[in-house]
Amino acid sequence: MSTVSIDSLAQGIDSDFKRSLLNSIALFRGVDADVIIDLLPQCGRIDVAAGKVLLSPDRSNHCVYVVLSGQLAVHVGSIDAPKIADLLPGACAGEMSLIEDKDPSAHVIAVERSHLMVISHGIVWQMVDRSHAFAKNLLVVLSERVRSDNEYIASSLGELRQAELNAMTDALTGLGNRRWMHEMFTRELQRGARDGSALCLMMVDIDNFKRFNDHYGHIAGDRVLAAAAATLREYLRPTDLIARFGGDEFAILLPATRPEDAERTARRIREELIQRSPASLPAPVTISVGITDARDGDSVEAMVHRADAAMYRAKDAGRDRVETDRSAGS
Ligand code: GH3
Ligand code: MG
Repeated sequence: MSTVSIDSLAQGIDSDFKRSLLNSIALFRGVDADVIIDLLPQCGRIDVAAGKVLLSPDRSNHCVYVVLSGQLAVHVGSIDAPKIADLLPGACAGEMSLIEDKDPSAHVIAVERSHLMVISHGIVWQMVDRSHAFAKNLLVVLSERVRSDNEYIASSLGELRQAELNAMTDALTGLGNRRWMHEMFTRELQRGARDGSALCLMMVDIDNFKRFNDHYGHIAGDRVLAAAAATLREYLRPTDLIARFGGDEFAILLPATRPEDAERTARRIREELIQRSPASLPAPVTISVGITDARDGDSVEAMVHRADAAMYRAKDAGRDRVETDRSAGS
């Protein structure tokens, strides 16, 4: 275990040794020992047991703690959260709350039995007054703290964004899931209604997919689903919104598209999927498609309902075809 013996400083030891001792503490690096030597005996020393909470946001703090031996850990949010930093001999804690005169922003806990030097508020400012090197070290410690806090915030935001993305994405196909679909389709539908632009919704369902799974296995089925999703993504316009509605069914919102254009697109997708179907299969993988266009006061649910009904008509008519909703309003 590494140890900083600050007590040796007060004793009659040579100046090189004093310098090397002070240099082992971040706050005292480069500080002329003679300038602050009389302040050191005024600093306290404490031993803290492993698990002891030294600083926490619900307790005000009036000291800087320097780790002389042992190890502290910094936790943000709660004591149970993973630690974001270790404080080893030579490092310090509590300086931010002391300078800001605010409660600590993190929990600092002893990882093992630790020996600490306790520098009170008044002594810290006397050291600042007496030594430029000490003042500079304090600024360096603070800026390192801000930097590591920023890194922590950036990585937490990254994780949060990833979690949000995962919650909106279907893992097998990489397409948006139902939740994503509801949010994005509703937004696009509202935009279309505002701009008065045409907009179509397409439901695409793979034909006899259960039979395919039963015959070739679920993993081969998964591959077909992922390939179908990739084809849709490649083939459709970047502005088209594609979601995995569930199972072997995909929902696609086509902004600025009239039903006749959506029909043409659906037929081309159908042909494209047949062409890309593995040659090893006795028959290509086919789809049935139902299409509807947006009407006044429409909702995503109502559009899905009509497009689904059209898609089931395509199934009833023998599958491998495109049907457009012809109910009133279209
Ligand atoms: P239809 O032509 O009437 O659509 O017949 P179908 O067999 O495709 O019937 P349906 O669409 O109702 O069934 C979907 C099948 O898709 C059921 C299930 O076996 C399969 N399936 C659903 N999700 C997955 C998946 O994530 N992976 C695989 N491999 N198969 C899936
Ligand atoms: Mg199906």
